Amino acid sequence: MQTADIRQRWLDFFAARGHTVVPSASLVSDDPTLLFTVAGMVPFVPYLTGLVPAPYPRATSVQKCIRTNDIEEVGKTPRHGTFFQMNGNFSFGDYFKEGAIAFAWELLTTPEADGGLGFDPQDLWVTVYKDDDEAIELWKKVAGLPDERIQRLDKDTNYWHTGQPGPAGPCSEIFFDRGPAYGVDGGPATDDDRYVEIWNLVFMQYLIDDVTSKTDFRIVRELPKKNIDTGMGLERVAFIKQGVENMYEIDQVRPVLDRAAELSGRTYGTNHDDDVRMRVIADHVRSSLMLMSDGVAPSNEGRGYILRRLLRRTIRAMRLLGVDGATFRELFAASRDAMKSAYPEVAHDYAHIEKLALGEEETFLRTLVAGTSILDTAVAATKQSGREELAGDTAFLLHDTYGFPIELTLEMAEEAGLAVDRGAFDELMTAQRTRAKADAKSKKKVLADLSVYGQFRARGETIFTGYTDLTT
Ligand code: ATP
Ligand code: MG
Ligand code: MG
Ligand code: MG
Repeated sequence: MQTADIRQRWLDFFAARGHTVVPSASLVSDDPTLLFTVAGMVPFVPYLTGLVPAPYPRATSVQKCIRTNDIEEVGKTPRHGTFFQMNGNFSFGDYFKEGAIAFAWELLTTPEADGGLGFDPQDLWVTVYKDDDEAIELWKKVAGLPDERIQRLDKDTNYWHTGQPGPAGPCSEIFFDRGPAYGVDGGPATDDDRYVEIWNLVFMQYLIDDVTSKTDFRIVRELPKKNIDTGMGLERVAFIKQGVENMYEIDQVRPVLDRAAELSGRTYGTNHDDDVRMRVIADHVRSSLMLMSDGVAPSNEGRGYILRRLLRRTIRAMRLLGVDGATFRELFAASRDAMKSAYPEVAHDYAHIEKLALGEEETFLRTLVAGTSILDTAVAATKQSGREELAGDTAFLLHDTYGFPIELTLEMAEEAGLAVDRGAFDELMTAQRTRAKADAKSKKKVLADLSVYGQFRARGETIFTGYTDLTT
């Protein structure tokens, strides 16, 4: 089952059940407190919190997401991408727990021939918040799930709130069991890769306040209008349905991985470290492609910095695969071709995207070799002197002169068995920022002087009267 097919089945299923189909919002979220759209619910937050009345009682979407907090997991677990698509169904004061559970179960277990996703009910487990007896009863009643495949978990994993006073509620997550070849038979609570979380159902049920942590808050009362927010990982379902090992091997991602293998002359599936690198490359290239298509450009700040990190991490991974030259032309073209049927804009804007990618590659390739040799020398010296921490000024030099994102230096130092003096690095960064600010201020002064001319311009065109005035 192709990823596009799963996406379409999802949208058709929920559209046929009264949900308004809402197109994906940009990866660059409207919410200034969020760098990126991290979940399907983000564009619906005003409706879910009741700030704005929802224009429809039910909605569904396939939302593009970026999660930078998963970057370290990429390529190592089978299920974490920095970019992924979250299929969601939402109810704004309309159906609640029973409806959400019934829809999820129906879509998952209806045979493929009848438009469903064709999961075998025997392979599915659920977790519920430990005190949510109502959800447990519903899973038994609606889905016929036996007690053994319903696990009670605590607030750290199975409760949702924003960290602010407002709506909150228990979650129930649905897992696919990959079988004994992947681990012991303990259910999702064992938290290993045998059980893959595919779908999270959030039951927004209470108003809370006094929130001091994820697990510590006070329930004020039940919400008069309860909401449903769900998220199913499209890539996770795709990798299971496509019978491959992980989300980097699905139709939308694998072509990039294959390209990386081809360019390096190494074979995927023969060496664990190389495999992780190829998966990282496939993930990061796709994420970068999608970010640039949503208007993000590499820079040293904010969103652009995340993009820069992804791009530079990709270049380094290619180097670790033994390729020193440029590869972005081939890698990005492969990702474009794999993504363009779902997102035609990546082909439409490709000239611009490629220009940004190649520019970044050229800049970093110029300094990567020199920077790496500086790092290697510093690592050797640090070890020789018996210290366990790389000096902060080395990390700063690498950042400032060689364009190494600090995270990259941390990663490379760790590979060599060293930590980095992060405190000293941060101090140097702060000092540099202060200098830059002072600099900008003094420049501003000059600009302020020049702005006097702006006032004249604002009055309208000045007419030169010198000739006439002087002669009269
Ligand atoms: P996990 O515990 O596996 O990290 P999560 O609990 O953080 O997942 P949710 O926040 O519940 O994930 O997101 C809803 C769904 O989105 C998940 O059930 C999963 O299918 C999918 N998903 C979440 N994070 C990722 C990711 N980094 N890459 C791919 N799919 C993801
Ligand atoms: Mg997670
Ligand atoms: Mg989880
Ligand atoms: Mg979850």
